[in-house]
Amino acid sequence: MRLSQFHLATVKEIPADAEIASHKLMLRAGMIRRLASGLYTWSPLGLRVLRKVENVVREEMNRAGAIELLMPSVQPRELWEETGRWEKFGGQLLKIKDRKQQEFCYGPTHEEVITDFARNELKSYKQLPVNFYQIQTKFRDEIRPRFGVMRAREFLMKDAYSFHLTQESLAATYAVMYQAYTRIFTRLGLSFRAVQADTGAIGGNASHEFQVLADSGEDAIAFSDGSDYAANIEKAEALAPTSERPAATTALQQVATPTQKTIEDVAAFLGVSPDRCVKTLLLRGRDGLVALCLRGDHQVNEVKAAKLDELGGESILASEEEILAAVGTRPGSIGPVKLPDSIPVIVDRDAAVLADFVCGGNADGTHYTGANWERDVRVTRIADIRNVVEGDRSPDGEGILHIARGIEVGHVFQLGTKYAEALDAVVLNDQGKTQVMTMGCYGIGVSRIVAAAIEQRHDDAGIVWPEAMAPWRVAVCVINPKHLPAVSEAAQALYEALNARGIETVLDDRGLRPGGMFADMELIGIPHRVVISDRGLTAGTLEYRGRTETESRAITQEQLFDLLV
Ligand code: ATP
Ligand code: MG
Ligand code: MG
Ligand code: MG
Repeated sequence: MRLSQFHLATVKEIPADAEIASHKLMLRAGMIRRLASGLYTWSPLGLRVLRKVENVVREEMNRAGAIELLMPSVQPRELWEETGRWEKFGGQLLKIKDRKQQEFCYGPTHEEVITDFARNELKSYKQLPVNFYQIQTKFRDEIRPRFGVMRAREFLMKDAYSFHLTQESLAATYAVMYQAYTRIFTRLGLSFRAVQADTGAIGGNASHEFQVLADSGEDAIAFSDGSDYAANIEKAEALAPTSERPAATTALQQVATPTQKTIEDVAAFLGVSPDRCVKTLLLRGRDGLVALCLRGDHQVNEVKAAKLDELGGESILASEEEILAAVGTRPGSIGPVKLPDSIPVIVDRDAAVLADFVCGGNADGTHYTGANWERDVRVTRIADIRNVVEGDRSPDGEGILHIARGIEVGHVFQLGTKYAEALDAVVLNDQGKTQVMTMGCYGIGVSRIVAAAIEQRHDDAGIVWPEAMAPWRVAVCVINPKHLPAVSEAAQALYEALNARGIETVLDDRGLRPGGMFADMELIGIPHRVVISDRGLTAGTLEYRGRTETESRAITQEQLFDLLV
């Protein structure tokens, strides 16, 4: 590509609304442009990177024996009624009507559609196991779209779904997918960790998230320094041993050390009048919604107080009716209410994601946590809550736990029969009897990976792409092309020679001053830069600099080719 014929549109100013490095750099490099909240146009430059990721994902999925197909992104309501998710999926589901007033959603995921496909296509155990995948646009009406394409509303996902006769067969494909994911993220040059994740409401036997390690990550993960144990924090907390900790004297202390805060304290912190805080107060913060039930001198524990401090955001007051609608429980009763044993502990795998809406009311052996503003409340008995902290003993007894931040870029999940049962997806087994199929699902956030890579790999000058994701591997920069035809010709020749060798190269023939040209190439993260100048031409050398090197060095064309193989 000749840059004079490309649309490169780097931006000098750091956009005010961009909070994290990848969002800033993607905007500055001109990779994405915002259309509306959570909606982005991928510029020609951004698309080159996105396609690189997509191709690696596709190659490895094919290598792992998965078969590509493409499903519609618009899906009929009836199908979602069959699994009960039309209502249950909550506010992330974008519902739309056609001209005949028939209802559809824009697919946030494709379990329903693929299972419908499978129930029609698959008739015999001889067709199993089979693993279908697609790379396609999803829409989720995220409560708080942020960080650019990291948490967008429209985004590109690779989603795969496997069908099996037996649990053993599912476990085998799951292992193959796990390996494929490991290959994908390794090839993409990312530093990542596979962690155990909760299987939650869906049940099933196993689930792992692939987390790219980055301080800006929205997720917390716990891993042992003495074994392979690694889990996301929710899973780690469900398993963590308490024996290491001093026995809690009260249930409340087990959640966190309580500190007494008066309504006046909280009101002062929030900057609202205390008489507005009589009942329940909801805060809308950076991390979603947090609720506090304030009655009398309700205790605010340190976790919450810290959370409040860090959230800071705008505060809103909610009526009892609003709380009731959101959590299905009267706010005034959250404290004293006793949960019957029949109320299950609901750990929904999406709940923590939508919003961490934490209700108080610890005093009576019950604690509502991770409640989702739009759907299920996660109800946990206080006795079941552990706060996993740095230095805790690993649940497997080997080593101690460390806590790190991560970005979820992939998720594999043994679904079991949930969807196949709901949609009656059966095959004939080798006895000639009908049997419900067992399923697995495997997602990768293709567009999120682009942002995650930048979070991990950038410096003051800009993006530092891993070779596999760079829009071009080499930039050939021409100093003063208009006035030095020989330089221009040599640059053209080198550019053509590199491309002919299959080394993707961009020719910066825009005629910019060296400073501006170099700054752009560093900002957009090109791994190798070669400068052709009058001086070098005479000496028979090129001026080479790797993206993370601090000095240029003179090398010959042959040396350059050797370096790039
Ligand atoms: P998160 O916890 O970040 O909300 P998720 O668990 O809801 O993600 P999955 O349903 O597991 O997401 O979807 C598979 C993958 O799609 C995720 O691992 C993630 O990489 C990607 N993904 C999910 N939501 C978004 C989003 N809003 N923007 C970009 N990528 C996303
Ligand atoms: Mg998640
Ligand atoms: Mg989510
Ligand atoms: Mg997930």
